[in-house]
Amino acid sequence: MHEINICWFKKDLRVVDNEALYESSKRYDVLPIYILEKEKWQQPTHSYRQWQFCKESLIDLKEELYLMGQPLIIRIGDVIDIFEEIKKTFKIKAIYSHQETGDFLSYKRDQRVRKWSKDNNILWKEYLQFGVFRGSLKRDKWANTYKKHFEKEIIKITKTFKTLPFKDENIPSDDYFDFENDKCYGRFKGGRKEGLQRLHYFIKNEIHSYGKNISSPSKSYFSCSRLSPYITMGCLSLKEILKKTKLIKTKDSKMFTSRLFWHCHFIQKLETEPELEFKEYHPYFENIRVKNDYFLEAWSEGKTGYPFLDACMRSLNHNGWINFRMRAMLMSFASYNLWIPWQESGIKLAQKFIDYEPGIHWNQCQMQSGTTSINTNRIYNPIKQGKDHDPKGTFIKQWVPELKDISEDLIHEPWLINNFDINNSQTLNYVKPIIDLKLTALNARKCLFQISSKEGYWNISKIIYEKHGSRKSTFKRKDKKIVKRKSLNKQFELDLNL
Ligand SMILES: Cc1cc2nc3c(=O)[nH]c(=O)nc-3n(C[C@H](O)[C@H](O)[C@H](O)COP(=O)(O)OP(=O)(O)OC[C@H]3O[C@@H](n4cnc5c(N)ncnc54)[C@H](O)[C@@H]3O)c2cc1C
Repeated sequence: MHEINICWFKKDLRVVDNEALYESSKRYDVLPIYILEKEKWQQPTHSYRQWQFCKESLIDLKEELYLMGQPLIIRIGDVIDIFEEIKKTFKIKAIYSHQETGDFLSYKRDQRVRKWSKDNNILWKEYLQFGVFRGSLKRDKWANTYKKHFEKEIIKITKTFKTLPFKDENIPSDDYFDFENDKCYGRFKGGRKEGLQRLHYFIKNEIHSYGKNISSPSKSYFSCSRLSPYITMGCLSLKEILKKTKLIKTKDSKMFTSRLFWHCHFIQKLETEPELEFKEYHPYFENIRVKNDYFLEAWSEGKTGYPFLDACMRSLNHNGWINFRMRAMLMSFASYNLWIPWQESGIKLAQKFIDYEPGIHWNQCQMQSGTTSINTNRIYNPIKQGKDHDPKGTFIKQWVPELKDISEDLIHEPWLINNFDINNSQTLNYVKPIIDLKLTALNARKCLFQISSKEGYWNISKIIYEKHGSRKSTFKRKDKKIVKRKSLNKQFELDLNL
């Protein structure tokens, strides 16, 4: 039987700097395969826009591998069934893939694959995709291990592959997954070519205004890298982005590369505790919020009656991307003001993001909902955010055309207009605020304070910090004891700033 290695592509859709592909092609012929799992794509966190991005990335990769002699094989079905089929045709020496820290479903699937490969005496070798590590890695050592990983060289494959005879399937048509109709006309296109173009454009033209514009939803649309979907789908490796941007020695590029560190820092948390996708960090925050479909829909459609918040949501619905601060504000409003469970609003947001990355996403959802107990809590005020980052209301007018004729002084608070009444008004077809901002924030603040005053709260919190807390300052200073205590105090502040 023909002896081969399988290179199982997951969320690493590239040839360059792909250690799994490189290693798999060293000694045996390699079968590069992507397995489309219907169950994965039918999860509520997944969406048409993400699938489109993935599809474009697959087409790109297929072409790249075709030029190397063996196009990407695409199969639809269960991973183990497909591996069984390969086993009937070839002698599988080993399976090579990257180490995935995905959602709970992929975690469970990987456990099944591990058992299958063990039972069949087939080696499964996994390689790092990011600076995220398996096993009992101590948080205190994480930052240094991360640094070492990214100091390695970029991996390039120069050889060509032998074409192997194995059944390939067409990428299924768009109605295969029964996705909801999704008009994300402003999203970036998937694929490595597009990703590289964006990276080069960003480095050449935008990185210098990265810090200055990072909080403005309209300016950051240009000045942020917007590389996140390419990182999520693995069209670009984090290492190549880091190496290219590190050549620019400015404050902005330093700020940018620190974000790449955060990327892995957050995913590491989910790697350490996969249940965080569903379960609160701190058990005292379980089930404190109340399901409300009306609030959830109004928020998700950008119809809360708060102009800047609605503009951000509508912009996200159209583009599949919005900057960090606005993501945090949207989540904070859902969790504190609307008081709906972060698990539900988090699913809605995940669907909208073409860069949906479970490790970052669920951690951020929890952070912006105050359930971690180790981060400073922030209740964002959408009126203040609007005045700060869109003083003239240009962004609001772009996304909430109902308000296009409103003057600058009233655009952030249209309810101050005399006789504001959506039923009678001919000109202002805009909703009234669905909640009282100050009252709901006050209630949220009280609730969090009461919970943090309960017996045993801080003891649990300390354990959470030991497991997941950032030690960034720790590896900069030698006197670990002092720095540790300092950062611990900071994390424990309960600063709710409206
Ligand atoms: C509620 C919420 C949900 C989020 N969900 C996701 C998600 O599903 N996928 C995702 O990639 N990011 C998520 N983020 C983090 C952040 O908002 C995005 O990474 C960033 O906006 C992507 O835009 P960019 O590529 O232009 O980032 P840039 O500012 O150009 O930064 C470069 C890269 O650094 C990483 N990065 C930047 N900010 C953060 C951050 N705060 N935390 C972790 N990594 C960061 C990303 O990989 C990003 O592509 C979320 C943030 C919040 C508040």
